[in-house]
Amino acid sequence: MTPLLKCSRAWRPFLQSSRCWTGVRATRPISLSVPASAAAASAPRHLAASRRAISSGAGHGGGVRQDKLPLKVKPERLMETLHETCAWGTGKRWGKADTETGMSRLTLSDADKEARDWFVETVGGLGCRVTVDAIGNVFAVRPGRSDGPATFAGSHLDTQPTGGRYDGILGIMAGVEMLRVLHENNVETDEEGARFPYSMMGSGVWAEALSLEKAYDLRSVTGDNATLKSELERIGYRGQVPASYRSMPMGAHFELHIEQGPILEAEKRKIGVVQGVQAYKWFTIEVEGRVNRSDALLLASKLIVHGSRVATKHSALVSTGILTLSPGSTNTIPGNVRFSLDIRAPRNETVEEVEARLRQDFAALASGTEDIGGLHEGGTVGKSEFSVSWRTDSATTATVFHEDCIRCVREAAEDVLGADGRLVRDVVSGAGHDSVYASRVCPTTMIFVPCRDGVSHNPAEYTAPEDCAVGAEVLMHSVLKYDGLRGKGLVG
Ligand SMILES: [Zn+2]
Repeated sequence: MTPLLKCSRAWRPFLQSSRCWTGVRATRPISLSVPASAAAASAPRHLAASRRAISSGAGHGGGVRQDKLPLKVKPERLMETLHETCAWGTGKRWGKADTETGMSRLTLSDADKEARDWFVETVGGLGCRVTVDAIGNVFAVRPGRSDGPATFAGSHLDTQPTGGRYDGILGIMAGVEMLRVLHENNVETDEEGARFPYSMMGSGVWAEALSLEKAYDLRSVTGDNATLKSELERIGYRGQVPASYRSMPMGAHFELHIEQGPILEAEKRKIGVVQGVQAYKWFTIEVEGRVNRSDALLLASKLIVHGSRVATKHSALVSTGILTLSPGSTNTIPGNVRFSLDIRAPRNETVEEVEARLRQDFAALASGTEDIGGLHEGGTVGKSEFSVSWRTDSATTATVFHEDCIRCVREAAEDVLGADGRLVRDVVSGAGHDSVYASRVCPTTMIFVPCRDGVSHNPAEYTAPEDCAVGAEVLMHSVLKYDGLRGKGLVG
């Protein structure tokens, strides 16, 4: 099984193990089961549209939230809860205010246990039934009027060693806020692997993409001899329920997450409606030259530049994150260079096209017989004693999220932000998420909110409180909309 990249364009050696989920059971027909206060959450579109007010203030912190939706999250409570829970595993300081620190909450650490304990206690107090499965996934299901799999929202509570307060955590806090709002309105309704070397492990085992035994045997990369199984037992989160979607099926899954990219902020958008996750392929390229004669690094540099140009032409992304050369001495021309190449694009075919083009062009540039894009111009090409070889390290096909879920998110975003769509944009995630696994076994999509400078996995990761609240509200209304459609038998 190929490890999936989670939440990052850069390769990271260890990722999240398990996650918490919040769920709402599917409704009976809306007119029977939902009190008036919640009716508009699943109201026909023309009804909802009449309640909208077009918002103003598209920038961060602008007053964009609508006042007319009957069910609203409480932004202050949402942010207070988020910051309070960040007392467990507080990381590096980046600013002066109390909340201006990062997070370091490795999965299955003591801090992670405290955050999980808080989650279990909190959702228990909101009338949820809590289930812990054998890989440590925690499910909180709010009972509804009918049986069957719940409609879920979920994300992760653990972080990178030098992570921030929003990646994953916001998704859980928004889910808890949703449960609080439903609870206090009496609404009757029917994910960071920074420690064990597998990405999105909890959802991977749940989706049966990774075996439980293999996951249990994973050893901590922090050198403390712990295995995933021993740590689950130590903190008391190795549950009795089998870790599988067959034991804990989901009717649908929605995940709110920070964008981890710059697009929403740059375009002053508030919500990204995530269409899917990009396909990617990772390679190690080895350039063999000759010490003091054929400069392997100079050629590698040209290949990297060319990769970027070809990517741009295909609307793809090609990047290099690892580069090693030898012999590595100031007055020696390097004879060997190895570098990583990450090719990604929304479509599988595009990744294949870029790869094929680069294989051809790299060979031509190495042979020196052909200059491409003027890369050899004005320089010394040498005696063409180069060879370029490719090794494929991993490949993941594109994920396409479910159209019904996507439609619910778009409508919810319009209800919250106004119907003209200025503040909402379709996006494709550049990074893997737990929702990739969830999408294999149930209708799934994600909701993105902007993050400052597109930064994540960094203590200074930041999403404005206003944007957190908008995201939480869109999440809640997406879940309720989908739940309403299920209640009417309009979706699975
Ligand atoms: Zn994440």
